[in-house]
Amino acid sequence: MPELPEVETFKRYFDKTSLNQIIKAVNVIDNRVLNIDEIHLRKSVVNHKFESSTRHGKYLLVNLGQNYLIMHFGMTGDLEYYHTKDDEPKYSKVVFHFKNDFNLAYISLRMFGSIDIADSIEDFIKKKKLGPDAFKMSLEQFKGALKRRNAIIKNALLNQDFIAGIGNIYSDEILFKSKINPKTKIDLIDESKVKELFTNIKEVLQFGINKQGDLSTYPDHFLIPHRKKEERCPICDYEIERYEISGRHGFYCPNCQE
Ligand SMILES: [Zn+2]
Repeated sequence: MPELPEVETFKRYFDKTSLNQIIKAVNVIDNRVLNIDEIHLRKSVVNHKFESSTRHGKYLLVNLGQNYLIMHFGMTGDLEYYHTKDDEPKYSKVVFHFKNDFNLAYISLRMFGSIDIADSIEDFIKKKKLGPDAFKMSLEQFKGALKRRNAIIKNALLNQDFIAGIGNIYSDEILFKSKINPKTKIDLIDESKVKELFTNIKEVLQFGINKQGDLSTYPDHFLIPHRKKEERCPICDYEIERYEISGRHGFYCPNCQE
């Protein structure tokens, strides 16, 4: 599932390929990905340009001048810029046709992604109750978010109202790097550990962005290459365990993350 580093990678790709071109048409191939009606989408984008983009958590918010196109990539979403109809990617759900005869496809293998229109970024963040962006938040914002919670840390990191952008895989990596057991209650994490956790959130996400979200190329000392059965911890050689919290499966080292 695309998490913050993957969506940041989509944003950079989007900026490089699709900004500042007139959109001459939009083709909705499957309207189940739309959270708005097709007419509203068409009216908002046709004869407009994608002027700039911002990422907040796992959302890509595109400035259309008068309002914003919002893209969420669900479990399997992607973007592809291409030229001829023959190159149209399989599973394209919505295609934006530009005046230069190139196209941008919003792709989703399943139906979990979504496309929306919002009047402003602030409105959208408020409506979705999103917390601060995990990569851009300050230490003060992070501490503030922690204070309002009485949850276990793994659930808090996954909760988009708490901080936005982190999912199952990167939260496990962050907790592994911080040597925190995923089931630890937030109020049991002391202040120096909170700072360390904050630093590690930034570092893990930055590394993910540098890797363009490609999990297959991670070095051995990360948890990511060891997220499977019968793997050993790259730090202490203890057996990596699979755990379940609120119906989600994760991995941790029971020795390093006591
Ligand atoms: Zn270990």
